[in-house]
Formats: sequence, structure tokens, C-alpha cells
Amino acid sequence: MKKLLLIEDSKLFAKAISRELAVNNYFEVHHAATMAEMIELLEQNQYFVAIADLVLPDASSGEVIYKLIGLDIPVVSLTGSFADSLQASITSLPIVDYVIKESRNDITYAVRLAELMLFTQGMKVLVANGCDKESSIVANHLLPYRFNLIFVSSLEQAKAELEIHKDIALVVCDQQLANDGSGLDLVSAIRNEHDELALPVLFTLVEQGPAFDAKLLKSGVNDFVVKPFSREELASRLVTQVSNRIRYKQIQNYAETVDRYIITSSTDEFGIIRSVSQAFCDISGYSREELIGRNHNIVRHPDMKNAIYKELWQTISAGKSWQGELKNRKKNGTHYWVDVHIDPLFDANGIIVGYTAIRQDITDKKYIEELSVTDPMTGLYNRRHFNEAFAGVSAEVAQSDGYLAFLIFDVDHFKGYNDNYGHQAGDDVLIRIGGCVSAFAKKLSALAYRLGGEEFALLYKAGNQQQAEDVAESLRAAIESLEIEHRYNSASAFVTASFGLYLKQGAAKVSETYKKGDEALYQAKESGRNRVVTQAAIPADVQ
Ligand code: GH3
Ligand code: MG
Ligand code: MG
Repeated sequence: MKKLLLIEDSKLFAKAISRELAVNNYFEVHHAATMAEMIELLEQNQYFVAIADLVLPDASSGEVIYKLIGLDIPVVSLTGSFADSLQASITSLPIVDYVIKESRNDITYAVRLAELMLFTQGMKVLVANGCDKESSIVANHLLPYRFNLIFVSSLEQAKAELEIHKDIALVVCDQQLANDGSGLDLVSAIRNEHDELALPVLFTLVEQGPAFDAKLLKSGVNDFVVKPFSREELASRLVTQVSNRIRYKQIQNYAETVDRYIITSSTDEFGIIRSVSQAFCDISGYSREELIGRNHNIVRHPDMKNAIYKELWQTISAGKSWQGELKNRKKNGTHYWVDVHIDPLFDANGIIVGYTAIRQDITDKKYIEELSVTDPMTGLYNRRHFNEAFAGVSAEVAQSDGYLAFLIFDVDHFKGYNDNYGHQAGDDVLIRIGGCVSAFAKKLSALAYRLGGEEFALLYKAGNQQQAEDVAESLRAAIESLEIEHRYNSASAFVTASFGLYLKQGAAKVSETYKKGDEALYQAKESGRNRVVTQAAIPADVQ
């Protein structure tokens, strides 16, 4: 961290300046209240910049400034008042600037100026002037800022230097260049390549009148100074340009970082994409061109239910923010999960003109969550998922006039199968049965489970008892139709399972559902296996 030397005998001012310096905290600040203290500090430290009061108890004639200039330390000097007789002699010195301590704003200005030195030091500035003497005046005025000045006298030279030094940050250009062109030609050459924010131009000229001044500003000059100008005039205009450019660069850097790492997009009020960040392109696999102008549902994954999108649109079109987790589809068909925040954008009259969304990639989190509720052998959901998801499914079904169907089944004489065909063959049977249930689940938008061992389940919605029983019977038949030989099965020549179907209209409890389904399954086993037994909790009037 660079060191700043603050020389100020007034405790009040010293405190105010220190507080202002703490805002950006760019410097390690050392404070001296007297010239003697300052000399002691200078012996032990190297200072990048100094903020110095002109009048100290032991040095009342600006000796502090001469000492610092002698040591080549840039100084922002503080003076008590305009009437100060020292002021005239001080302003002719190569100091960064002088500040009259009148208000809080003056202190802020002095501090920002000292901080600006961090940016101006080494900053490349092109000085284009047809007259060497004028160039050296500009150079003298700018000396305390430690710019890296590049001097040219002609248009061609200027263009050549701009070509070589792509990092030139500012141009101080005179109207009068050597024979081959005017300053305005240089400005228009610069504006063909860079806008006013990217490369500011400060123009110097002899008085021409308002019409020319207007022409100048329209030509793309950021500001101008009429000759002859004072050091303050040139410097203060330059400081404004430099500060604006620094702010612009900071915003640009920030925007680049956001673009690279944050998955953002904005749409019009109908959901047509207007802009996307690079991070959005990276994660979705689409290019900007492929996304802009398309509906945002280009990344919608078919697994996401309509109800989620309905709720999302209802919320945002009512002018509110929406937050939630969405599974999105990549261009290559694979998916990613995002935690998304969507906010409406309003015009000056409060009318929604579009939406912006910002997302976090939660694919890994989702993957881990998915693993914790998945049976690794069959890929079906496990008992934990059943317990967690049951309430949601049951509530959804209870809102409709349909039935919640819980179909639990258990492989018949599976111990006998393992004992005779081996444990590995047993595993293969469970995997094949898993595939069979999984296909049913997909077709029915149902949830398929391996609840444990050789016990499976299907949780689905049915319009009536017959529909529910048809599903159960088809699944039973499908498993038998796998025609997996099982010579030790009392119910068939093939592997079969026994099914308990529990049907419920209205709200259901997980424990009761499980118990009733299990009772029905027990009855199916007792009554000969390879069959479906139904237990329906249906109000008498609709039975
Ligand atoms: P029932 O028709 O009455 O259901 O008879 P069963 O033999 O299927 O019932 P039982 O509960 O006596 O035996 C279940 C068998 O399932 C015992 C166990 O070795 C086997 N099993 C449980 N989990 C697995 C597994 O992950 N892989 C294999 N290969 N076998 C398993
Ligand atoms: Mg003082
Ligand atoms: Mg069994």
C-alpha cells in the first residue's frame, strides 16, 4: 500500500481529512502536525503523495511545500484563505493543486485529487501541438501529475503514436498542428475509432467565438481551453476528464466481470430476449445471435411443469419479483439448474417494459440433492424422496377431483430366486423391474420408487378407481412379460410381483397411505401372489 503524508496542525482538519481518506482506503496515512514531525517521517519513509497545510506553527512561510517539491513528492497544498499572501507564490510552484479550506467539499476535493495521482502516474497522455514552446508549457503544467507524456506535432505522427500506444488514455490537442492537418482533423480521426468515454480529448485553441466553440463540441471534443490559459485552468479541466475516464473504466471492468461470470438476461414484456451475458451463452451453449430475438422459453426444460411458469408469469406481470429454482435445457439437450431472480423493468410511467433475470448455477447442488433421494442400483427415487415429496403430491391431487394412487409391490419368492440363480442375477432382476416401473412413471407423469430390498412403488394420479386398477394390472402384466425365468416361483414360471393398491380422494397422510398399501400387498401375497389387491378410501356416495 502506498503511503500518503498528511501535514496539518489543526486537529479538526486532520481528522476530517483522515476520515475522507478512509473512504477509499487507498493509502497508508502518516500524519505530521509540525514541520519537525514531517522531517522525522520523511527520513524513515517514502511517500507517494502529500497533502500539506501551508502554515504550520514551526514553518509559516510554506517551507513545507519547498521541502516536498525538493524531494520530488507530489503535493496537494491546503491554504487557510484566499487572502493568504502565500497563495500567489505557491500557485506558481509545480504542485498538484492548491485547495482553500473553506468547506467539507474542499477537503473531499483535496483527498480525491491525491487519490487521482494513483491513476495519473504513468498514464499515457498524447500532447499534439504544432508549436514546441506550447507543448513545453503544457508539459510543465502537467508535470506534477506524473503522466507519461507523448509529444507529437503533426497529424500523421499523432495517428502513428495512437496506433503504437493502444493504451493512450487522454489526448491534449491544439488546433494548430504542423502543416499536414488541423487539430480538428485529429479529433475526427480519433472519433472514428474511439468514443468520448473511451478516449477523451481536451482541445486548446485561440479565441474563435461561440460558433466555432459549438462546432468543436459537436466534433467530439470533450472540453476545450482558450489560450493563454493558466495552470489551474488546464489542470482542472484535465482532472475532470481523467476522473470521468477512470470512473468509466471502473464501470467497464465491472461490467466485463459481470458479463463473464453472472448469468443474466433481459427480455421485453413478452419474454423476447433483448440481451444476455457471456455467462448465459456459456452455460446454455447458445451464442448471443442465437438467443437475441428469441423467446426465453428456448431454454425451458420439458421437465419443468406448466404450473411453475404460470406462477412465475403471474408474479412478474403483476410487477413483483419472482425467485425460484429452474431446470433449463442446453442447446445440446442436456440440462443445468439455476436459482433465478426475475425483476420487472418499468418505464417512467410505471408501465412494465421488460424483465431482467439474474441466475446462479446450482447444477452441482441439485445433483447432490438428486443423489440423496435416488436409489443407485435402479436410478429410481428412494424412500427418503417418498417421505419428502408425498405431501406435495397429495396436496396437488387433493385440489383436483382425482384420486391419489399408491401402488406398492414386492417381488415374489425373491429369496428363492437369489438362492438358486445367485445374488448378481437377483440384482439384474431388480434393475430390469426398475426399468419397467420407470417407463410407466414417465408415461403417467408418476413417481417411481424402490422403497427398499425388492419392494417398489408407483405414486400417481388417477381419474377413477378403474383407471388406477388398469395401471396396476398393466404393470403386473408387464413384469411377468419380461419372462425372466423363475422356477421357484409358486405363482408363475417367470419373475412376478404382488401388488397392493391404495386409493385416496382428498388429503392423504404418508404413514397411513404406506400402511394401507402394505396391508393390500399382504393380502395379494396371501391370496396367491402375482396379483393386485385394492384398498380404496373413497366416500360411499361416489363408490
Ligand atoms: P415373498 O414372495 O413373500 O415376497 O418372498 P420373498 O422371498 O421375496 O421374501 P423375503 O422377504 O423372504 O426375501 C426377500 C429377499 O430379497 C431376501 C433378500 O436377499 C432379497 N434382496 C433384498 N434386496 C436385494 C438386493 O438388493 N439384491 C438382491 N439380489 N437381493 C435382494
Ligand atoms: Mg495551520
Ligand atoms: Mg418378496
